[in-house]
Amino acid sequence: MMVAKSRGLELSVILLGSGCSELAGELAYHADKVIVVNHPNLAEFNAEAYRKVLVSFIANRIPRLTLIGHTSCGLDLAPALAIELGIPLATDCIDLRLDGRSLIVTRQVYGGKLNIEGVLKEADNYVATIRPVTFKPGEPRTRPGEIISLEYPKDIKLGTRFIGFVEPPPGEVDITDAEVIVSVGRGIKEEKNISIAKKLAEALKGELGCSRPVVDKGWLPKERQVGSSGKTVKPKLYIASGISGSFQHMMGMKNSELIVAVNRDPKAPIFSIADYGVVDDLFMVLPALTKKISNLKGSE
Ligand SMILES: Cc1cc2nc3c(=O)[nH]c(=O)nc-3n(C[C@H](O)[C@H](O)[C@H](O)COP(=O)(O)OP(=O)(O)OC[C@H]3O[C@@H](n4cnc5c(N)ncnc54)[C@H](O)[C@@H]3O)c2cc1C
Repeated sequence: MMVAKSRGLELSVILLGSGCSELAGELAYHADKVIVVNHPNLAEFNAEAYRKVLVSFIANRIPRLTLIGHTSCGLDLAPALAIELGIPLATDCIDLRLDGRSLIVTRQVYGGKLNIEGVLKEADNYVATIRPVTFKPGEPRTRPGEIISLEYPKDIKLGTRFIGFVEPPPGEVDITDAEVIVSVGRGIKEEKNISIAKKLAEALKGELGCSRPVVDKGWLPKERQVGSSGKTVKPKLYIASGISGSFQHMMGMKNSELIVAVNRDPKAPIFSIADYGVVDDLFMVLPALTKKISNLKGSE
């Protein structure tokens, strides 16, 4: 909304789905136009269907800037859309502005420690994906924008179709129920060291969680992964040890009631959302905490 306003551009939202009229009504308070396409083929995300429908509507009048969420669906859709339209793409933007015929984007590098500004080559149109929860929602308009319903294009042929969701096999634990989670990241270094965090979790009657690299290495099962491609948790206490704090990880735990971060690097992004931060070696801090808690319990 801010980008559109600053350039005197119209802000339109394209809503693809099935039975999404109610949402269109809500969105109308945040955009000049809401273009809705309701069709059973769009009920579940299908990158091919979404791309073909979008292209059929915007190919003849490509918007100055097409913004898509940097989600797993957006990551599937945006690059293919940019290629089909033959226009530049910027991904995972946390800020952007139009300057003359250029798009200037801000992205994070080095695990969120640095922000860089990138200037895309001059073009009439761009596609960009925006990191979720980066912008605060704007104030709703006093009068709703226009809602336009469009027919699903009849000539679209699809090679892929949605069959159904595949439920993961029932796991050993459901960490989303845990009141205390002690999570380990790559800083734990070796599989055998996970027992150090496990002892602390047991002392606190909590569960073990982890970042994605720990699952990728096969040290803990996927059901313990916290983050955008793992579980979203909201325990009373979340201890992040040896976890840098990538936005994907933080998306899954930032709403925990109390966050304690243990990391040797004082600049680790996890400290930006921690209530308590310990800048030290987890191999000293975790056993010391376990001992202290066990002693306190022993004296109860
Ligand atoms: C599409 C996509 C989805 C993703 N989904 C997820 C997800 O759901 N969950 C997730 O976690 N990640 C996810 N990731 C990966 C994410 O981008 C990061 O790579 C990952 O979170 C980093 O994990 P980490 O913090 O354990 O490792 P690192 O970033 O390597 O951080 C390790 C940290 O340990 C610290 N450290 C090292 N030794 C010690 C020590 N002795 N004592 C204390 N601290 C120490 C270091 O200072 C460092 O900060 C995803 C990535 C993509 C592209």
